[in-house]
Amino acid sequence: MIDSSPAFIGLGANLGDPLATLAAARAELARLPRTVLRRFSPLYRSAPIDATGPDFINAVALVDTELSAPALLAELQRIEATFGRLRPYRNAPRTLDLDLLLYGDERIDTPQLTVPHPRLHRRAFVLRPLSDVAPDAVVPGLGRVDALLDGVADQPIERLSP
Ligand code: AMP
Repeated sequence: MIDSSPAFIGLGANLGDPLATLAAARAELARLPRTVLRRFSPLYRSAPIDATGPDFINAVALVDTELSAPALLAELQRIEATFGRLRPYRNAPRTLDLDLLLYGDERIDTPQLTVPHPRLHRRAFVLRPLSDVAPDAVVPGLGRVDALLDGVADQPIERLSP
């Protein structure tokens, strides 16, 4: 692919059948235009943080994409919408949440998009699957992913698949 960027996408689901939702979301990511799905992490189960409802199932995907970061975000939001996500109030339980975690080594700060995702370094449910996919990935301004894991060691999280 010409001029592609690696991008990491965080997936989370906690309503309905979250395992089926993540499997379907993985298939949707594999079908993104001008994008190749390179890796998909093991699944993790985590208790809700800043949200309500049942436990979340989380994973991280690595893609190579020719889409710009805003175009990729738009695709992620389109996928979220197809899973019927409702936003009746802030941090309401959600069917599928897709976050753009990292886009190459870029730092982006617009009203629609902040990259690196501003909370990724504080969340075990992001850092654990991210480190499975790419332990040597660098979070701009913060350093290597595997070095950030110590900071979330106190957060309970269960790896579901080997
Ligand atoms: P949330 O409800 O947590 O999924 O947040 C969705 C909102 O966050 C959308 O309005 C996005 O425009 C915005 N947003 C900002 N940065 C990001 C990012 N890195 N990934 C996903 N959504 C983002």
